[in-house]
Amino acid sequence: MFWRAVRRRCPVCGSGSLFGRWVAMVDRCPRCALRFERGEGEFIGAIGLNTIVTFAVILVVTIGAGVAAARGSSVVGFLISAVVAAVVVPLGFFPFSKVLWVAFTLTIDPLEEGEAPGVVATEGA
Ligand SMILES: [Zn+2]
Repeated sequence: MFWRAVRRRCPVCGSGSLFGRWVAMVDRCPRCALRFERGEGEFIGAIGLNTIVTFAVILVVTIGAGVAAARGSSVVGFLISAVVAAVVVPLGFFPFSKVLWVAFTLTIDPLEEGEAPGVVATEGA
């Protein structure tokens, strides 16, 4: 499921075409008809995941700036990189965070009968 999610595919059936544009995700999978927001407000977890990844990238860039400063290099380039990362990473990772979150919720709350009518068996997905 997570491998499919990393490729922005449906975690249940592997179907693509889940995004009309980069961040606009369809409500249901076009193949298995899984409703991606399985519970009200469930995508808040995806936003949290996106935030964690963004802060992790900014932390790495900031550590790079610290190392560069310790070696006497200018930190301006790293600081610009941190600002760029703070803008680009959340937008770039957003669709992945949504599909990864769906995969995560499916691991802790497996599919119920009829939840994805277009798929027969999901074991080992
Ligand atoms: Zn599907």
